[in-house]
Amino acid sequence: MQLSHLNPPQREAVKYLDGPLLVLAGAGSGKTRVITQKIAYLIEECGMQGRNIAAITFTNKAAREMQERVAQLVSGKSARGLIISTFHSLGLQLLRQESRHIGYKPNFSILDAADAGKIISDALGTTDKQLIRSTQSLISNWKNALTDPDHAILQATDDAGVHAAKVYRAYQDTLQAYQALDFDDLIRLPVELFRQRPDIESQWQDRLRYLLVDEYQDTNACQYTLLKQLTGSRGQFTAVGDDDQAIYAWRGADIENLKNLQRDFPKLHVIKLEQNYRSSVRILKAANTLIANNPKLFEKTLWSEHGLGEQIQIVSTKDEEHEAETVATRLQAHKFEARTRFADYAILYRGNHQARILEQALRNHRIPYVMSGGQSFFDRAEIKDILSYLRLLANPDDDPAFIRAATTPKRGIGNQTLEKLGSYAAERHLSLFAAVFETGMEQQLASKQYDTLHLFGDFINRLQWRAEREPASVVLQDLLTAIDYETWLFDSEEQRAAEQKWKNVQDFVGWINRKSDDPEQDKPPTLVELTQKIALITMLEGREDEEPDAVKLSTLHASKGLEYPHVFLVGVEEDILPHRESVDTGKIEEERRLMYVGITRAQRSLTLTYALKRKRAGEWQVIQPSRFINEMGSDDLWFAGRPVTDKAAAKARGTERLAGLMAMLKKE
Ligand code: ATP
Ligand code: MG
Repeated sequence: MQLSHLNPPQREAVKYLDGPLLVLAGAGSGKTRVITQKIAYLIEECGMQGRNIAAITFTNKAAREMQERVAQLVSGKSARGLIISTFHSLGLQLLRQESRHIGYKPNFSILDAADAGKIISDALGTTDKQLIRSTQSLISNWKNALTDPDHAILQATDDAGVHAAKVYRAYQDTLQAYQALDFDDLIRLPVELFRQRPDIESQWQDRLRYLLVDEYQDTNACQYTLLKQLTGSRGQFTAVGDDDQAIYAWRGADIENLKNLQRDFPKLHVIKLEQNYRSSVRILKAANTLIANNPKLFEKTLWSEHGLGEQIQIVSTKDEEHEAETVATRLQAHKFEARTRFADYAILYRGNHQARILEQALRNHRIPYVMSGGQSFFDRAEIKDILSYLRLLANPDDDPAFIRAATTPKRGIGNQTLEKLGSYAAERHLSLFAAVFETGMEQQLASKQYDTLHLFGDFINRLQWRAEREPASVVLQDLLTAIDYETWLFDSEEQRAAEQKWKNVQDFVGWINRKSDDPEQDKPPTLVELTQKIALITMLEGREDEEPDAVKLSTLHASKGLEYPHVFLVGVEEDILPHRESVDTGKIEEERRLMYVGITRAQRSLTLTYALKRKRAGEWQVIQPSRFINEMGSDDLWFAGRPVTDKAAAKARGTERLAGLMAMLKKE
């Protein structure tokens, strides 16, 4: 196997098999490339079976890309059984095989954050969003710390703590009754299982002889424990990461895990990569200058052989609409001059809410775009409607799915019926679906209500029978016809909205068809498998399929690990990047890392934009450009069309701000 397209330390990392290995290096230094090449090396050179190797990526998208690259490097046969997936998908795969040991059927449902939020809302007896969200994140923290409800109650120091812990217990009981798991469970339960059953743990250790982990800096404690369990005392793994790109502390990730590796694996070998292959010298220098403002965990250097490159453009705009408009026109002009494709561009932003106005401007300019990391395709109401049927077919105990399916489209099953059904089911510890077929239920309801309910139950039963025997695509098509979803959409929505939604549903059908007929697979996935898979896709990213030539719109978080020839980073302002809350709570370093991630996505050109005023809660507010612009050093920055020194830049910004203020005053 050729390893000539790797530099010496990369080659060393690929060949190193004497024990645990950490590759610690900055952005664009080829860490992910090391992982891909190492998978190929293990299979082609070391004769390992694909099924004995697992590589863990941070997103499903990254997993797909890696699968494609590995497929080009190794023959299909020897790669069979190779796992390239996220921690969550790995957990799912593991649980599907072992669920009976933890009291779950293999067809368990996976609840998304919205479903989970509803259960928590019921347990709390409130619709206060803030409270629901904070309780949800408490529960998530408990789960990631492997604290069960009983211990959470014991550890509570005040009444509020006890109450939250009780809500946690009620939440867990409900999940169990629904035969449902949340995302955290997909990691937590395998860890628990391995603790209780060392025999099963050692079976998995035998199966997975080599582990590779990308974006290691963003693993949380629970994931780290799972990694340790899977590698066992053998410690045969390669982890790659960059402490400067740790941006998921808010989801429980902990950079300390980088240090813990050294503590837990004294034989850990560390390799550093220093050559950046991605970005021009100017972009790299600005990124390095910025991140030097953070205290260092590990000493790293990064250099590039690429040319100096274009200057980094800093563009001041009047307001957010002007900003979006400026990005669209600059992008078009750049594309025309540089003869590039739309797909060579990415527009990155801090928060999802910034996307809408950009989308509008791109549409006005007829620039095709795709969005990732925003509202997921599978998160749309119409898709969730259809999914609720699939979830119910897969798992009749899934009560939230039952309620949504039974009431969408409206078929005469109202709140009253559902309440009676709910209390009947609760008293007897039945699922809603099972309660439908109880004779006792007949006495609870008026005969018309009962008939409607029963009709629905029979309908689901028949579909279930078919779903076990027929291809998912056929069953789905018949389901749509039977519930006449199209008519319902057009009756309940405006024409244009209905058309768009129906198109989305058809896209979804197309997606299912492709998944069921994929010739690469040994056997077509069942409806249960597809439904569980979708739940995972919704967690982190948007649509799977991408248009061939379109600008990418993405949050900074979702852009991690990716690269684009030309990047626009918008809203580079105080209160956005760094985010106001982060400044207040002293988390400025994580914000700086996020900015570093953004800058280092760019290969050839980088444009930063900010608005001088922005509407907040209906009021115009004057905006300060982000402090991070100053921290990038001024040598390679070009402020709105002219080069400036530090002092002049500050002055220019002052004048611009003044001009913005004047313009604003004039308007009002
Ligand atoms: P990030 O920290 O952003 O995840 P990374 O360290 O994982 O970055 P890669 O994505 O693996 O970096 O590599 C960055 C780019 O450099 C890719 O386009 C990759 O193909 C290229 N590259 C990596 N190593 C080499 C090499 N030895 N020779 C030429 N190109 C390389
Ligand atoms: Mg990478």
